[in-house]
Amino acid sequence: MNRRLAPVAVAAALALTATACSSSGSPGGSATDRGERLSVVTSFYPLQFATQSIAGDAVDVTVLTKPGAEPHDLEIAAQDLSRLTRADLVVYSKGFQPAVDDAVEQVDAEHVVDVSPAAHLTLTAAEEAGHAGESEAQHAEHAEGGTDPHFWLDPQRYASVAEAIRARLAELDPERAATYDANAKAFVGRLTALDEEFETTLKGCTTKDLVTSHAAFSYLAERYGFEQHGIAGVSPEAEPSAAALAEITELVKEHGVTTIYQETLVEPHFAETVASSSGATVATLDPLEGITDASAGSDYFEVMRSNLAALEQGQNCS
Ligand SMILES: [Zn+2]
Repeated sequence: MNRRLAPVAVAAALALTATACSSSGSPGGSATDRGERLSVVTSFYPLQFATQSIAGDAVDVTVLTKPGAEPHDLEIAAQDLSRLTRADLVVYSKGFQPAVDDAVEQVDAEHVVDVSPAAHLTLTAAEEAGHAGESEAQHAEHAEGGTDPHFWLDPQRYASVAEAIRARLAELDPERAATYDANAKAFVGRLTALDEEFETTLKGCTTKDLVTSHAAFSYLAERYGFEQHGIAGVSPEAEPSAAALAEITELVKEHGVTTIYQETLVEPHFAETVASSSGATVATLDPLEGITDASAGSDYFEVMRSNLAALEQGQNCS
């Protein structure tokens, strides 16, 4: 396999070196100049969706996390690693998927864009999902995940990331820069409209506590004035202790929370436990880590509007 791939890799490396060395875009440099489609590998759904929306059909955009797979614990197979090292560009967000963080270290930095600086990852999961009265050790346990990576659930942060992707595509493929600019403008325009819809709809909610199954909604909560209480930590695998479950059930009762949110890719067991022992009902809030047949829409915008409808009802906003 290495012998078959080697000439391709060398040719690509030479071509890309040529691009890198010629700021004026001399002939024969980019993949498009060679009559090939640019290939961009993205690490999970929101990055795939933004990149595809901005790049259009001229670019071959693929994703490492398969639809329906839980992205936090993604494993990278050998063929994925080879896709990564041969791609014209790899789009990922450092700190979300440890396997991707490791794999991109084997990719030339010229061909990688980490969107996390553009995402303004200012919240830690612990700050938003921490429960009052827990011990130091319990706190450390769910603070382990550190920074909350789920920036795309805040349309403004997602727009900032889209802009970073646009800039990198334009740099890589200057001939299509005008197309990328126009597509990015349209994409950001849709995000701005979505943000305004959230803002308007969620203005008068009487329930401010947002009880979710995994702590994916810190940025959404901050943007629209909720306080998130995650039953699990920032990664859905971090199972809650019995004490944490009891504590969150108590909070639900005391604060008059009427709805507990479960999600599509994670087993609803804990959300149901809290709901049944507190008298609340269960609704779905999708963290948009992947689109499947079970999703309440076929893309980010549709699912976010479904989330908005669930919040409007569950947080008692009308
Ligand atoms: Zn998550």
